[in-house]
Amino acid sequence: MRKKIVAGNWKMNKTIPEGVELAKAIANGLGDAAGNVEVVVCPTATALKSVSDAVSGVIGVGAQNVYDQTSGAYTGEISAEMVLDTGATYVILGHSERRQYFGETDDSVNSKVKFALENGLRPIVCVGEKQEQREAGTTEDVVGAQVRACLAGLDGAQVSTCVLAYEPVWAIGTGLTATPEQAQEVHAFIRGLVAEMVGSDVADGLRIQYGGSMKPANAAELLGQPDIDGGLIGGASLAPDSFLAIVNAAV
Ligand code: PEP
Repeated sequence: MRKKIVAGNWKMNKTIPEGVELAKAIANGLGDAAGNVEVVVCPTATALKSVSDAVSGVIGVGAQNVYDQTSGAYTGEISAEMVLDTGATYVILGHSERRQYFGETDDSVNSKVKFALENGLRPIVCVGEKQEQREAGTTEDVVGAQVRACLAGLDGAQVSTCVLAYEPVWAIGTGLTATPEQAQEVHAFIRGLVAEMVGSDVADGLRIQYGGSMKPANAAELLGQPDIDGGLIGGASLAPDSFLAIVNAAV
């Protein structure tokens, strides 16, 4: 039985006090989800420590990116050790916005995934097709290639430490959502591919989140699909009520 995991990707939103307030409201409002659903928030780097200090032991905290080097002359970057130092334990890697605006590729994501794992962080690895790729019928080719490349070289134990997030790019921040059937189809495909790569035991235990305009109104149906093990939530994670409604739909 896979424990569902719902993570909020706050992107470039929330100052430190705003982030602490939001995280505390989430931690205090878990209700039936407490202990039953793993809840993670991913603030900006500047707020990681304060948010971790405020909600430690109740909800998890993750970063939105790390660099694949330990230290040195890499202006503007942060290392896995620095993220861990704040109390955060997860890191989102390969988000489509990082790919679109910051030139990340499957290769650089793979390098970061390896580096994060070697340094004790748990990656949330994002994959997903663009609208034109779905329309061209190449969703499985695109997503399959991303999964293979982003997880290349990892053994079963390392893959087990990751969470995958299927995020169709055309559904992120657009209000468009994959139907539960469309999402389930891709999730099942990803799980089958992971089974081919590292065995069915690992694949059966791997949590695969859906992300792309998940909101209270559609969360229960998406989270009710057999291969959807949680959500990666953008817009709806910025207010406690909408995020908690999604978290509770995962119970
Ligand atoms: C995301 O950015 O990971 C995301 C899913 O955003 P939204 O929920 O706003 O579509």
